[in-house]
Amino acid sequence: MSFGLRELANFLVPTSCAVCSRADFRLCPECRTEIQHQLFLPPLPDGHHHYVELPLIAQQLPVSSCGIYGRELARAMLAFKNKQRYFLAAVFAPYLAAAINSSCIPQPGTVATYIVAVPSSLKAVGKRGYSPVASMLEHGMARGLYPSELVIRPLLHYRARSVLAGAQKLKSGSARRGGQEHFIAERADAPGRPVILVDDVLTTGATLRHAAMACHKAGYSVTLGIVLALTKPPNHEPEQ
Ligand SMILES: [Zn+2]
Repeated sequence: MSFGLRELANFLVPTSCAVCSRADFRLCPECRTEIQHQLFLPPLPDGHHHYVELPLIAQQLPVSSCGIYGRELARAMLAFKNKQRYFLAAVFAPYLAAAINSSCIPQPGTVATYIVAVPSSLKAVGKRGYSPVASMLEHGMARGLYPSELVIRPLLHYRARSVLAGAQKLKSGSARRGGQEHFIAERADAPGRPVILVDDVLTTGATLRHAAMACHKAGYSVTLGIVLALTKPPNHEPEQ
């Protein structure tokens, strides 16, 4: 945007950096650079690959993260999720797409892999009016960042029962941490249809575990989880 146009846009809609609140930028050059330093393109560094245990089926789900949650990246992700800074989808989308593409090389003649966003809670969608993870994926798809063998498919949903239970503890936020939210997946249209689960943040792994189990029950083969950022526990122990 030229200087004159930016001035005009700021006059119409005053803007500030989504991360540091500096005036006149949606994302100032310094914060953009910091975020680019905090997110990685494949090959992802050591410490960005983890496993979420799926004890009920005696499996582990490999999960890769583009970045480590903290500092400018964390502030940008919160602004994207909670402060209507939708344009940040364009900043994040290429990293997610690169991580997904590097871990899934489509084989000719095999069934297409579905890319599945872990749904935001209905409560969160109601508050935000959109699903941040789905919008990052859709943005990447619209920009042609995914090959045609990868199909974004919103096949995972909240169970109605969990929605009711969740509504009674709006403030506690414990549903996510305690893993009490449960998903249901639409039945697989091909046996063992491969699925890559995508979420914004990996914390305890409980959300991805529930999502993976719902997909497993519906007949999918969940091969991988990809998250934008990993929350590192203070002791750096493996995911529990
Ligand atoms: Zn800034």
